[in-house]
Amino acid sequence: MEIRDRYAPSPTGLQHIGGIRTALFNYLFARSRGGKFILRLEDTDRSRSDEAYVRNLYETFAWLGLQWDEGPDKGGPAAPYVQSERSGLYRKYAEELIGRGRAYYCFCTAERIEQVRQERKAAYSGEAGGSRESGYDRRCRNIPADEAAARAASGEAHTIRLKIPLGETTRFTDQLLGEIEWKNDDVNPDPVLLKSDGFPTYHLANVVDDHLMGISHILRAQEWLSSTPLHVILYRCFGWEHPLFCHLPMVMGPDGKKLSKRHGATSIDEFRRQGYLPEALINYTALLGASYGEERDIFSLKELEERFSLDKLNKAPAVFDYKKLEWYNGQYIRMKSDEELAGLCLPYALSAGLFGPSGGPDAGQLRVFTAAMALIKERLSFLHEAPGKIAYLFSEPPMPPAEEFFPKKADREKTAALLRIGRELVKPLAEAADDEKAESLVKEEAEKRGVKLGDLLMPLRVALTGARVSPPLFGSLRILGAERSLERTGRALALLEK
Ligand code: GLU
Repeated sequence: MEIRDRYAPSPTGLQHIGGIRTALFNYLFARSRGGKFILRLEDTDRSRSDEAYVRNLYETFAWLGLQWDEGPDKGGPAAPYVQSERSGLYRKYAEELIGRGRAYYCFCTAERIEQVRQERKAAYSGEAGGSRESGYDRRCRNIPADEAAARAASGEAHTIRLKIPLGETTRFTDQLLGEIEWKNDDVNPDPVLLKSDGFPTYHLANVVDDHLMGISHILRAQEWLSSTPLHVILYRCFGWEHPLFCHLPMVMGPDGKKLSKRHGATSIDEFRRQGYLPEALINYTALLGASYGEERDIFSLKELEERFSLDKLNKAPAVFDYKKLEWYNGQYIRMKSDEELAGLCLPYALSAGLFGPSGGPDAGQLRVFTAAMALIKERLSFLHEAPGKIAYLFSEPPMPPAEEFFPKKADREKTAALLRIGRELVKPLAEAADDEKAESLVKEEAEKRGVKLGDLLMPLRVALTGARVSPPLFGSLRILGAERSLERTGRALALLEK
């Protein structure tokens, strides 16, 4: 069987973790089976769809490196399918159902529908079984077909509703959840398929398009499970075979409630701004509700494409763990070369004004910036942290108060003496070929002078970086060079000797 699946978002909000997880699973499933992954914008709800969200969708896909395989011209993937561009198509299908006696024209006004809704809500409030409470009372279901057709043809405002077969049970097999059955009387009573503005509802457009696009599998969020019996009924009314359904496990926040803004960032845009790497997001998202049964956590998109299958999905809800995602981000940061990481951190450095008032960076600053990546790579969880960690390489760090320089148990005098030794080492340290050489040099000197290595390095570190905790000292010193390091240690000494 050719695998064809799709991600079918409605552009009514920013792309978030849940949506992207659905997109990714569909993408991986199609790739794992040599199939086709389709992107389809379900924008038939014109009042809620927004161009900005469509742009956000494309940007998110581009940033994550996900590409769909097919678009309307079939020639290439350039543009995805967009339902509003296909809106002429759906009426024919709604009318076909009328012809088959499976749907009917409804002439009830919006006011009447609202009134029925209110009455039902009052009458059934407190009762289980939901849909009766708010649903339509099926008043137009029994208008004789020729009378209804004549009224519609004369231009009377109408919708088209599905005639849900009553007294029956709809069954289907979910690929993950197993057998599902639903009493038709509990399905949304005779839902609208075609609205009075001629646009299809989600249900009609979704089913017609999945059929026309030859979709073999529908992998979607579990919140759509309650729409599926209705869709299955629709497929049967058309006389079509329905695709296989697979409702994906929910994504929860750490408190066991559905993941939402209350828990932290959820939109991909926000993660991106915070300095997450797409690889980290892809890797972590691919594990939300799936396990690949291997003794490792790191998988590239390619590796995921090779490994994904529906039997790797879990039934239990997935818990979104921000700390774990942060860990992934650190891992992927460490895999970058200094040059790649510099390129990724550059926008954050620019907006932090790291290179001074001219904006920058000039060639020299860029060299320093790239070299500095090696110093911080192991310590970075997010790209945006980079400029703060290496600011001392670009401008003089503010001089801390004298006590900040003191190693444990040392006073001002002793600290000054230690810094004097440190200052003598600046030149050879700046010239040392690597950390190992630098370290043996400092060790030797500490032994010779009878001081502790840590005590020797503390005032030197604070003098050069402005802080007791900093990126590696020897590397920093080599980047700063002997001249600037001598200047900084000189000023620090002056403070301590005051
Ligand atoms: N348009 C629906 C959404 O916004 C599609 C659900 C489905 O995949 O069928 O998610």
